[in-house]
Amino acid sequence: MINFLASMLKTAKIPYKENELLAPKSTFKVGGTARLFITPETPAQLESVISAARSAELSFFVTGGASNVVYPDGTYEGAIISTQQIKEIFYDSDETTPDGSVLVTCQCGVPMAAFVDFCTKKNLSGAEQFAGLPGTVGGAVYMNARCFDRSVSDILYSTTHIEYTGEKAKFVELPFNASDWEYKKSPFQAHTAEDGSQITQRYLTQATFRLRPAGAAAHEQIVADCKKYIAERVDKGHFKYPSAGSVFKNNRAFGAPSGKLIDDCGLKGLAVGGAQIAPFHGNFIINTGSATAADIRSLVQAAQKAVKEKFGFELEPEIIFVQNN
Ligand SMILES: Cc1cc2nc3c(=O)[nH]c(=O)nc-3n(C[C@H](O)[C@H](O)[C@H](O)COP(=O)(O)OP(=O)(O)OC[C@H]3O[C@@H](n4cnc5c(N)ncnc54)[C@H](O)[C@@H]3O)c2cc1C
Repeated sequence: MINFLASMLKTAKIPYKENELLAPKSTFKVGGTARLFITPETPAQLESVISAARSAELSFFVTGGASNVVYPDGTYEGAIISTQQIKEIFYDSDETTPDGSVLVTCQCGVPMAAFVDFCTKKNLSGAEQFAGLPGTVGGAVYMNARCFDRSVSDILYSTTHIEYTGEKAKFVELPFNASDWEYKKSPFQAHTAEDGSQITQRYLTQATFRLRPAGAAAHEQIVADCKKYIAERVDKGHFKYPSAGSVFKNNRAFGAPSGKLIDDCGLKGLAVGGAQIAPFHGNFIINTGSATAADIRSLVQAAQKAVKEKFGFELEPEIIFVQNN
């Protein structure tokens, strides 16, 4: 199966590597190797790779910046498909929506930092809160990332994704529909339909955002706001150690952030192998040097157990463990 996919990649001239180390490619710096690490450069190449992996019945995982994932220890017996080379930005200042917003379209692999920089240079306001968010547009839309009380869905206009009916792939454009989106939930996450069947996985190729044209006079303010949000992350210790950001979602019904509940259980600083619940942030697990996916999983389970016992709440992980399947 691997050989079938590798020869298709060679013929189609789609870049890939074999037995690639995963740890350096994720913000957690954890993981073994992937049999194939593929970096398609266009949405059409992304579709060809996914279609070939599906028909070869090979495990595969689509990743952006790998800032919210834990790669497996050992060998991933399939293909990691990184979108990071699919990274064009499209903008037409004359194209406005009825409410006066302008539209910026980013391919899935555009780093969120590049999107925010682009908006800043064009004096477009609305994306400042995402300054300093690691990862790509595809990952942020998939996760419905939320920063400083702003979710990606708050500025989304439309998306395009690859979807399968049987073996047949099609590109689908979805206008933004508020009822498809919730806190850290998007219509791209695998989910179960009301009749119990699994909704087909969707693979984002691009997203279009609504921004407000703020004019040249607002430039300094946009720059200052972006700096403020980045500084706040630095102050909170976000970049001190390798991590994947917050490990658990927050849940209003709990009455306190997940990190506070973990702290109240006395778990800050708890270590398993090379992973540790950050002494400075109850909802961060950090890699102190030699963490494995198994270490991180043990800490996730320890926090879930302690919070369940003390408060009766089920913590829902936000980080994604990539698994052989
Ligand atoms: C220091 C630090 C701080 C962070 N702060 C925040 C924060 O404030 N708020 C927040 O919400 N998150 C935060 N995160 C988590 C992470 O940065 C976000 O979830 C980010 O949006 C993930 O983007 P990514 O490209 O890295 O996605 P990845 O980690 O590569 O993937 C995440 C998920 O998205 C899926 N995915 C990626 N691209 C596609 C695609 N094109 N099509 C379909 N599925 C896709 C993957 O399959 C995976 O399931 C933080 C992480 C770190 C390390």
